[in-house]
Amino acid sequence: MVSVQVVAHPTSDLDSSLLRLNFSGAEFLFGRFSEGIHRALADHGPVKLSRVRQVFLTGQTTWTELGGLSGFLIGLSDTAVKKGLSVIGGRNLPWAIGTLRGVQFRQKIEVDVRYAEKAIVNEFMTVVPVELVLDGVDGLVDAADDGLSCKIESILERIRSTDDANEPVHSDTFTTRLLLPDTRSASMCYIIQPHPTPGRFNVIQAQLLGVPPGPAFGQLRKGLPFTTASGTVVTPDMVIGPIEQAEQVIVLDLPTHAFITAATKVDWLRPLQTGSPSDTCKVSTVMHILGPDIDPFSEQYTQFMKSFPSTCKASLRHLLAHPSYVPDTITVSRSARLRTALRLLSPTKFPQSNTASERKELPRSDMAISPAVAEPLTYSLDLDELRQQMSSAIADTAPSLAVRIVQQDECRQSSSSDVECICIGTGSGSPSTFKNVIGTIVRIRSREGYDSVLLDCGEATYYSLRRMYGAAGVVAILQEIKLIFISHMHPDHHLGLLTFLNAWTQGMRDGVIYLIAPVNIQIWIKDWSQVYPKFTNGLRFIDAEHLTAANSRHDPASVEELYDALDLASIQTIPAIHCKPAYSIVFSTSSQFKLAYSGDTRPNQRFAAAASNSTLVIHEATFDDVLLPDAIKKQHATVTEALCVAKDIRAQNVLLTHISPRYPVLPDFMCVDVLQRVLSAGQVLADEDEHGEFLVRDISEDDKKWCENVKVTVAVDGMVVKLSEMGDQEGWTELVHAVTL
Ligand SMILES: [Zn+2]
Repeated sequence: MVSVQVVAHPTSDLDSSLLRLNFSGAEFLFGRFSEGIHRALADHGPVKLSRVRQVFLTGQTTWTELGGLSGFLIGLSDTAVKKGLSVIGGRNLPWAIGTLRGVQFRQKIEVDVRYAEKAIVNEFMTVVPVELVLDGVDGLVDAADDGLSCKIESILERIRSTDDANEPVHSDTFTTRLLLPDTRSASMCYIIQPHPTPGRFNVIQAQLLGVPPGPAFGQLRKGLPFTTASGTVVTPDMVIGPIEQAEQVIVLDLPTHAFITAATKVDWLRPLQTGSPSDTCKVSTVMHILGPDIDPFSEQYTQFMKSFPSTCKASLRHLLAHPSYVPDTITVSRSARLRTALRLLSPTKFPQSNTASERKELPRSDMAISPAVAEPLTYSLDLDELRQQMSSAIADTAPSLAVRIVQQDECRQSSSSDVECICIGTGSGSPSTFKNVIGTIVRIRSREGYDSVLLDCGEATYYSLRRMYGAAGVVAILQEIKLIFISHMHPDHHLGLLTFLNAWTQGMRDGVIYLIAPVNIQIWIKDWSQVYPKFTNGLRFIDAEHLTAANSRHDPASVEELYDALDLASIQTIPAIHCKPAYSIVFSTSSQFKLAYSGDTRPNQRFAAAASNSTLVIHEATFDDVLLPDAIKKQHATVTEALCVAKDIRAQNVLLTHISPRYPVLPDFMCVDVLQRVLSAGQVLADEDEHGEFLVRDISEDDKKWCENVKVTVAVDGMVVKLSEMGDQEGWTELVHAVTL
């Protein structure tokens, strides 16, 4: 039997709508795979991710529909699912995967990517793709171009192989723009017909007829008659019920109003079972994934829903996945619980997540049909109620902490500060329950408000911000951003960029944003500017290589404008000791603020020199020191290494981030004792490689003085920390042990 269930719906932190069909444990997913979908499914189930066989993407082939696909595949390969999965979607899907040719995947991901050209039959069902194509839009480009399909195939080959994953990509195949095969607006929908299931074997009836249990049962199940001891001939139809015809499921995806007419022209009720007359057609579920400009209760759409004939109506469910009607539930609930707990002690560092977005009630309907909202089994979270529960739990189990809880009426606005860090995601590798992948905004006070920089942009960075600040608040945050820096091509550092830029472009009609990144990012953006033509208007790309000290080939116009935009005194990228190419960045403003961001790197003496006397150092600290061998192997830094680099810099403030998911809730190194770490560096870093050697040396009195004065903060997802409030994380670890997360 098949079970049909909605497992994702559009919320502030997810743009996905997803229907799951489960056949005796085998999972099939239909819908949109927006950024963050893997984390959402891993957080609240019920999909067994290791059992996903096929993914059917609906809608248009834009980043909105499939931005979470790479993260999903990486997540699956992390859990040892490395083969046997296929991804099926619109005709531009192989192209979309091809645009990932510059990404340096760490694991081999064997996946079959296909355009759903014709019906797909597997052991459980027949899936008929229905592609709605709008008329009057530009036609096919290079549709018959074998060269293009060969090129995409060779790119897919490379993505499947990781033999040279850490090598930079330079050949022409990878640096020329990949032309979009089909520029028409098209949207993918599916009609799903599960195979009939054999009738049930009636054991009692068989025994009454004198059939002995054992091989005789098997004989009847195979369709053969059996003669009993008394000579009665028992035929299969006497003991086996009729074959059960399973009902169809239809997944519609209408991204805009323009697709409704195309949808009304399709015969959605065509019989798919051989030998099944059309008047026995049965549909159990129609999932309507609808764009925001469609009114599902308009005369036109109501008529469309009514067009499913009376034979289907008795038990037919219409499920509406519409962003104005589904509830705005928090997607990753355990991470929200952690922030709610920390908010008890540090309310100014953890602004309450926005859950107030307006959603409409379904209108009372006199239609013969009664649509329901497509939402997963409820897992809603009332943050105020949760706060009360946690507060009581702490009063019982940790009275010493209870006295430090800041009551809500005492929550004041934190003191103003010239610099503020928004830790959007703080994890390394792939998203985990409590940590999304890396993304940090640094807001720097300027004459007219704040000028902000975004340092790396992991998957779902934009959606996390939208959850933190709400739909209106996030626009204000985006408007402040003047510069985005992408350090390197590992997927946890940049897969959120297209969504972020798209949101920025929509919010800023005439603005300019600078992007400093490896050159492969520019190629990726050029590929996608065929889908998002507005990208090119306000975006100024600067190759990170051109800002290294060794390189003066930079475009003077863009860089000069960047100096003006951020009121800079200096800016420089430094080649990082990680994959190639990878960079760190250091800049200072004319108001004497100096920022240094390491990106991913082993301890780097050149970075330390360039960052000298920084106001704020944001350094990766993927592992604690016992995992130094892992840090060396994966080219990351440990906590003590990061602190020793900051000591050489004489940093005033240090933010440690990019923390391994192996530290599941809060890392063990919260409230780090800087002096003790620095003093013991010689011992714990005894097995240093050649990169970290410079850190192991005698400690001077000046070093000790620095240790006493520096403010070190360990980044936590959703934390907003002003420079004036850096360092105070006392009690956080104790707190998370006292509450249920
Ligand atoms: Zn990396």
